[in-house]
Amino acid sequence: MQHKNGKLMSLLPITLYGDKILRKKAQKVKEVDIKTIELIKNMFETMRNASGIGLAANQIGIDKQIFVIDISQVEGYEKTKPMVFINPEIVEYSKEKDFFEEGCLSIPDVRADVLRPQQIKIKYCDTDLNEHIIEADDLLARVAQHEYDHLLGILFTDYVEETEKGNLKNNLHAIRKRSVEFTYPVSENIDYLLRL
Ligand code: ZN
Repeated sequence: MQHKNGKLMSLLPITLYGDKILRKKAQKVKEVDIKTIELIKNMFETMRNASGIGLAANQIGIDKQIFVIDISQVEGYEKTKPMVFINPEIVEYSKEKDFFEEGCLSIPDVRADVLRPQQIKIKYCDTDLNEHIIEADDLLARVAQHEYDHLLGILFTDYVEETEKGNLKNNLHAIRKRSVEFTYPVSENIDYLLRL
């Protein structure tokens, strides 16, 4: 816990690969109260502390359809504002797809090329529960799809072909056994559900 700009912030432990909550479809947000606002602030803090560019609520053990994105630390995206997506829904995908190497704070030390549509249209609510629809492309579309998947219980490793999962499996087992070094607080939850 730390003070920043006079406000109390907390780093929340990140749930790791194998935790059941990462495989569950998250619940819709019906109201945004002070606790929810606090949660969102803490999600940004937790994500930035771990050098992440996106974080979904179930990655900190919260069963709610919320994710946050901040890609402004990535070269070339400095002007992209941090964003909160509540009850998101991707309503359109471009036919054009490309590969991009992804990683995940819940699956440390694992990276894989994932094929995804280049552009999307995403509908979501802001913190006043007003609905918006935006077009996203490039890195923002990539991160939004990764985070949206989290809220559906999907992980990027699910897209890796079975035949290419050899090395990945060793890393995933190491994460399950907590035998990797973590550079940020992680959940102690060992309520494992292994699905490779
Ligand atoms: Zn992730």
